[in-house]
Amino acid sequence: MQQEIRQNYGRMLDEKLMELEKSGEKPSLLLHACCAPCSSHTLLYLHERFRITLYFYNPNIAPESEYDFRKSELKRLVSELGFNIPVIDEDYDPKPFYELAQGLENEPERGERCRRCIALRLRAAGKKAAELGQDYFTTTLTISPHKDSSYINRCGGIISGECGVPYLFSDFKKHDGYKHSIELSRQYCLYRQDYCGCVFSRRNKQ
Ligand code: SF4
Repeated sequence: MQQEIRQNYGRMLDEKLMELEKSGEKPSLLLHACCAPCSSHTLLYLHERFRITLYFYNPNIAPESEYDFRKSELKRLVSELGFNIPVIDEDYDPKPFYELAQGLENEPERGERCRRCIALRLRAAGKKAAELGQDYFTTTLTISPHKDSSYINRCGGIISGECGVPYLFSDFKKHDGYKHSIELSRQYCLYRQDYCGCVFSRRNKQ
């Protein structure tokens, strides 16, 4: 993927939110969710301006019990927030992740394995958004200070071109979003995992 001039994705999101506030429109949004903590601030930030559907698609997560627990924590969060938000989830199938990770097992975080992992999940989200006729799609992943938000947004923009659904550019860590997600995790007693998700990140955790 070609490098491009660094954009202020947080500002792009704020401008979109202001535009929607002025117009009074409330478009639909498929929000790819990696876990409950990352979804907490993101849901609170977006829910007044979008009709959200959450999409839990994370074939990178291992083992299966961890996948199931992160998914159940996401559903508990939505229920405890009192939001009437559908959660679409996929059955556990890590095969596509292990295919893309072949030969990249020892890559550091933010390396090529992570880029492919993010693209896999965003591509599935774009496809699902197109199937459901959603107005936008995006992901909670930009809230993490460990992830390359610029890459995530550029990837989303490319996939938008493939699936025909506009990508909602974002940087959810802006406005202390990451800090807020930690506070919300405490408030709702959310499980905060100590590794990103895949077996390789689990092995490398400190
Ligand atoms: S470290 Fe995280 S982003 Fe990178 S490949 Fe593993 S699960 Fe995916």
